[in-house]
Amino acid sequence: MSSGRLPASSSDKKGQSASSGRGGKANASRESSLAQLFRHFVGLDLIVETKQGRSYKGRLREADQYMNIVLCKSDGNESRQSPPPPGGRGVDGQDFTSLHIRGPSIRYIVFGAGVDLAACVRAGRDRERAAGDRYKRGVRKAPRKSASIVMGDAGSSKRLKMTTESFPTGGFMEHLSPNERKTGKVISVCSKCNGEGKVRAPLSKKAKAMKKLQQEGNGSGDGPFQAYKPNYKPCKLCGGSGLLESEPSEGSAQDHQRKGSLHPDDFSVAICGGGIGGLALAIACQHRNIPCTVYERDNSFEERKQGYGLTMQQGARALRSLGFFSLTDEDVAKDGVEQRFGIHSTEHIVHKPDGEVVGRWGMKVWGGRFEKGGRKHSKRQNAHISRQGLRRMLVEMLRPDTIRWGHKFLQYEEKESRKLTLTFERRSGEQVTNHCSILVGADGIRSAVRGQKIGETTSPLRYLGCIVILGIVPSPLSHLTNGETVFQTADGVTRLYAMPFATNARDGEPLSAVDVGQQDSEQVSMWQLSFPMDEGDAKELSRRGPSALKAEAVRRCGGWHDPIPAMLERTHIELISGYPCYDRLIVDGEIFRKGPQDSRSSGGELCTLIGDGAHPMSPFKGQGANQALLDGVLLARKINGALRKNSGKVPDALAEFEEEMLQRSAVKVKKSAEAAVFLHSEVAIGGGNVTRGAVAATQSKG
Ligand SMILES: Cc1cc2nc3c(=O)[nH]c(=O)nc-3n(C[C@H](O)[C@H](O)[C@H](O)COP(=O)(O)OP(=O)(O)OC[C@H]3O[C@@H](n4cnc5c(N)ncnc54)[C@H](O)[C@@H]3O)c2cc1C
Repeated sequence: MSSGRLPASSSDKKGQSASSGRGGKANASRESSLAQLFRHFVGLDLIVETKQGRSYKGRLREADQYMNIVLCKSDGNESRQSPPPPGGRGVDGQDFTSLHIRGPSIRYIVFGAGVDLAACVRAGRDRERAAGDRYKRGVRKAPRKSASIVMGDAGSSKRLKMTTESFPTGGFMEHLSPNERKTGKVISVCSKCNGEGKVRAPLSKKAKAMKKLQQEGNGSGDGPFQAYKPNYKPCKLCGGSGLLESEPSEGSAQDHQRKGSLHPDDFSVAICGGGIGGLALAIACQHRNIPCTVYERDNSFEERKQGYGLTMQQGARALRSLGFFSLTDEDVAKDGVEQRFGIHSTEHIVHKPDGEVVGRWGMKVWGGRFEKGGRKHSKRQNAHISRQGLRRMLVEMLRPDTIRWGHKFLQYEEKESRKLTLTFERRSGEQVTNHCSILVGADGIRSAVRGQKIGETTSPLRYLGCIVILGIVPSPLSHLTNGETVFQTADGVTRLYAMPFATNARDGEPLSAVDVGQQDSEQVSMWQLSFPMDEGDAKELSRRGPSALKAEAVRRCGGWHDPIPAMLERTHIELISGYPCYDRLIVDGEIFRKGPQDSRSSGGELCTLIGDGAHPMSPFKGQGANQALLDGVLLARKINGALRKNSGKVPDALAEFEEEMLQRSAVKVKKSAEAAVFLHSEVAIGGGNVTRGAVAATQSKG
């Protein structure tokens, strides 16, 4: 085989055999067409001539056995707005970022002169054979360590076997995510419940009668019949998680983005912001074979230190729906899965500044059983995790090339029907454009996507009247920082809250300690000091930086009970930050959807928001990340549901998603804002072995 102009239509392909090299008989018969050999040419520069008479010049980035190919610009860069794109000889001057061309539409492929295609095929086959051998050797040598993983809720009897050994890299493994390579498992959505985790239960006779009545228009809900509501039960196939695991295969990885109508040309999701919400959405899309790309402003994962702790509440449910089954050592012991990145606290103590205890609650106090309304519940404790550790785990779930670092979103435009053109700024200052079917703003409290969709005049940032100063410190320092206790101390104005949030052990590799810069510590705690302050003063204090923030913390709490003075003292200056607290009032669903009529905002039914971009809230109820995770999973489910019917239904699915999201998060925004007030009042030191929210509720009733 030599370089030159090769015909590529299906009729032309017949009989085009791989006749040279060491391919061997079996390979030659298996790979009898140019299409099947084409993957070996990845990386070569070529010109594609289509049956429609168009020509495209670029570098081959991907190819499958049907000769569906992806071209990128020859220098591997994305399209630029300036200078204007060069047009080659006999080649359309059309600019593109990455171009997907379907196999059946290709007439000719023209390779550069002097390219030895036979050598490319030989080298490609050698690479694949070596990868296969490595894989087989690995499997034979080491007996498989296996562990069982609980798919679904605790108590479910569905257990699947999962290997914990590492799979070798090479071949199709390169298309898998780091997590898939590590566990040797590909997670995809359950084929029975389509990732919902629940299926409709069969109707009882009574329910059938109610449904019939309702369909006939008589089921008003009054009288003997109540309005019929469908019943759901947990999906037995996946045990309620909505996910299934399988061995990775060439098809599962490489065909991932090319199934049926979900070719990226036909439908793709652009997610602006690689924070908690954006990454959760990307994983949930990946499980559902929905093509998506995350555009993140930071140049890399490590660019900014973001090491504070999060308390996982409802978000733990969302994490299970993303394939994280064990958040803590306790879960590991129970589920047998070597996957942990957080800890449970067992006790929560409230003090006055002199150390007097005014409230205590938690599993340790209740003897392992939670009591509410006179009834005992075996409620699970909340898990405390490192934000950056969680982010790392989420990033590792994503397949290569899903995240584009160093892309700051600037604006979107609806140019052609049902497509958006997005403009990003690179760190160098150059602007690049990309396209998508829907845009999701997951870009945090100062969301640029929100700025264009809703505008800044509707529901602007609302100052909550207080500043938060954060510090990360190695522990233990006393029994209060033993890794199991959360404590808070308040004087009716200033409040200090401290919680353990990470051990540095994850698969034997330092994790959180690295994230927070404490290489030698086994246990890390976060303290969060907050107090009322004018907005201007709060901005000024935050601007003056860590030394000023630390000095203010010591001035206010340096004389408080142990271990607070030592805790402040031992906190490294680099691990202190502070910022004024803001939220936004939840906007009306109609305005959220279409944008306010009297502003310059774009609205747009192809664009939505999640996480802090949609509903920022104060950190005092520990809900922001939990809500962002729930948003990501819910949105992917809604999009998937619509795509299974008809892609024209996606805007309706976004509207449904927004309604549910706004309803769920509105109460959290409100309660978090209330907490910003009562935690800096006498309520914080009111007596009672209950949460401060419960004290506030009792006092307001009284
Ligand atoms: C001290 C503190 C404690 C907290 N504790 C808790 C807790 O215990 N529990 C809890 O649930 N929540 C907690 N939160 C809140 C939680 O951290 C946030 O609500 C959550 O991180 C929001 O996630 P997000 O994905 O919406 O946004 P973010 O995590 O803020 O991510 C936004 C991402 O978008 C990127 N970005 C921004 N602009 C652009 C742009 N123009 N183009 C491209 N990318 C862009 C950013 O770089 C960032 O990576 C706490 C917050 C703080 C500050």
